[in-house]
Amino acid sequence: MKPLTEDDIRGSLVNAAPGEAEHMPMPGLHEMVWDDREYLGWRDPGSPSRGYLVAWRDGTPVGIVVRAASTRLQAGSAICSLCNTPQPASQVTMFSATRAGEAGRRGDSVGTYICADLACSLLIRIAPPPLDMQPSPAEVVAARAAGLTARLEAFTGRVLQAA
Ligand SMILES: [Zn+2]
Repeated sequence: MKPLTEDDIRGSLVNAAPGEAEHMPMPGLHEMVWDDREYLGWRDPGSPSRGYLVAWRDGTPVGIVVRAASTRLQAGSAICSLCNTPQPASQVTMFSATRAGEAGRRGDSVGTYICADLACSLLIRIAPPPLDMQPSPAEVVAARAAGLTARLEAFTGRVLQAA
C-alpha cells in the first residue's frame, strides 16, 4: 500500500466519536514495510477492545474504528472474514464498527470476524511450501492479497453505506 503519514491517519477516521482521532495512539510508522501491506491495522494498547484499520480507497485514506466483542470464540478453528485464513479460534475476534454518518448516529454497526491482531497482511505472506503442481508461492500470496483487498473494500463499503 502507499505509505500513510500520521496526519493521513488522524484525518482518515470515518466512524470515530468526537475527539477520538486526537487520542488515537499511533503505530510505529517508521519501521513499517508498506509494500507488504493491504491495510494498516492495530489494537489500542490503552483501550484493548479498540482497534483501527486504515486503507486507501480511491486515493483517499479511509480509517475505521472497530471494537472487539467481549465474548470470545471457543475452541476449534475460525476464519478471518478479511484474509480468509483458517486459524485457531482464539486468534480471530468478532469486531464491530459503528457505521459512518447518520446511520452510525442511529446506532447502526457492522460486525465481522477479523484476525485478533488486525495483522492479516503478515499472515497471508506466510508462503506455502513450493510444490511442483501449484502456482508459485509468490502467485499464491498475490492471490491472497487481491482477495484481502477486495473483502476489505466490501467491509469498508458496508461501514460507509448511506441510510
Ligand atoms: Zn485476517
